[in-house]
Amino acid sequence: MANTRHEFGEHGGVNMSVEASTTFTVMHPDIMPEIFGGKKGPEQGGCYLYGRHFNPTVYNLGKQLAALEGTEAAYCTASGMSAISATLMQLCDAGDHIVSSNAVYGGTYALMHDLLPGKTGVETTLVDITDLQAVEAAITDRTRVLYTESISNPTLRVSDIPGLSDIAKRHGIKLVVDNTFSPLILSPKQLGADIVVHSMTKFISGASDFIAGAVCADHEFIEQLMDLHTGMLMIFGPTMDPQVAFNISLRIPHLPLRMVEHAKRTQMFAERLNAMGMSVTYPGLPSHPDHALMSDLHCQEYGYGGIMTLDLGTEARANELLELLQNEYHFGYVAVSLGYFDTLMSCSGSSTSSEMTDEDKSAAHISEGLVRLSIGYTGTTEQRWAQLMEALERIGEAPQKRIA
Ligand code: PLP
Repeated sequence: MANTRHEFGEHGGVNMSVEASTTFTVMHPDIMPEIFGGKKGPEQGGCYLYGRHFNPTVYNLGKQLAALEGTEAAYCTASGMSAISATLMQLCDAGDHIVSSNAVYGGTYALMHDLLPGKTGVETTLVDITDLQAVEAAITDRTRVLYTESISNPTLRVSDIPGLSDIAKRHGIKLVVDNTFSPLILSPKQLGADIVVHSMTKFISGASDFIAGAVCADHEFIEQLMDLHTGMLMIFGPTMDPQVAFNISLRIPHLPLRMVEHAKRTQMFAERLNAMGMSVTYPGLPSHPDHALMSDLHCQEYGYGGIMTLDLGTEARANELLELLQNEYHFGYVAVSLGYFDTLMSCSGSSTSSEMTDEDKSAAHISEGLVRLSIGYTGTTEQRWAQLMEALERIGEAPQKRIA
């Protein structure tokens, strides 16, 4: 994480203040037109204008996010989906085209597959993002965006960001990467992405108490998003609440510790389950198809992430396991979302990927028994492992291979 200037509180407090005002006093009315025109912001000798435009607390969290992702600027939004939809709509005009990974979060899929075509005429071609030839072949003269998730939800395929960046540059289009699954682990901007989006609802917040998002990009793009006439954030208005911004700002400093612990435990569980012959997917396993790629791209200190999947074959069997894990062994919670301090588990096909057609789910390899586990760090590792083993034994999964 790059260094950013520490923001002291109004009275010298070590934490920044929460600016609770939605509007700001313009001391000299004659500069109002310049402020409105974006020529005299707080960093150009002017002042803040209105909370939907820039709020100091939200603005400061944006600076932390820009430092986290190594971009010139960032802007925080009310949700991950608003960060994604604002970015895509800012980059595309009516009739333009997006090439996207076929394995993306269900809400992002719905935006591209169901909402954008009817409302804007923007069409999306879904491709296997690991097949760079297929990616390039899908680009047309109307393509404006190449979109992917650094680690895909829920299939955990890793994007070759440098390879995708080469393609995007060759075709003069923008590479947008959703880095929700791998903050700190992967640095999409350094690897060649143009714009990085986040759902901060997940690992960055870490407590499943706020819905929040961010767009990290160069100054020019952030200014476009905030344009008074055509800025998707300014006009649609998915503004982050300053109280939320303040709370999240206090969690960024311990994000590194949390990411390390999530990854350490997930790696251990994945290795043990793999040794038992279970159908486990985790980029930290040498058997994962993108293990070598991720080993090249990631920041070693943070490991391979806090999410793994287990394929139980059928949804009924997956539910049987989830029922036991939650209600009898207290291993975690059956809940969508991820990045929480406790383990969250869900059957992706019937929850966070349920927006997808059966055909698109199958093309993305989202099988009906696929369980996504976001591994938490409460309890001791061995306690958690014992809970998992007892539940697996109860449903008759490889008890003879139990290894701990
Ligand atoms: N991106 C990814 C990878 C996600 O998993 C999600 C939500 O699960 C989102 C974006 C949307 O984020 P939010 O719920 O904050 O709008």
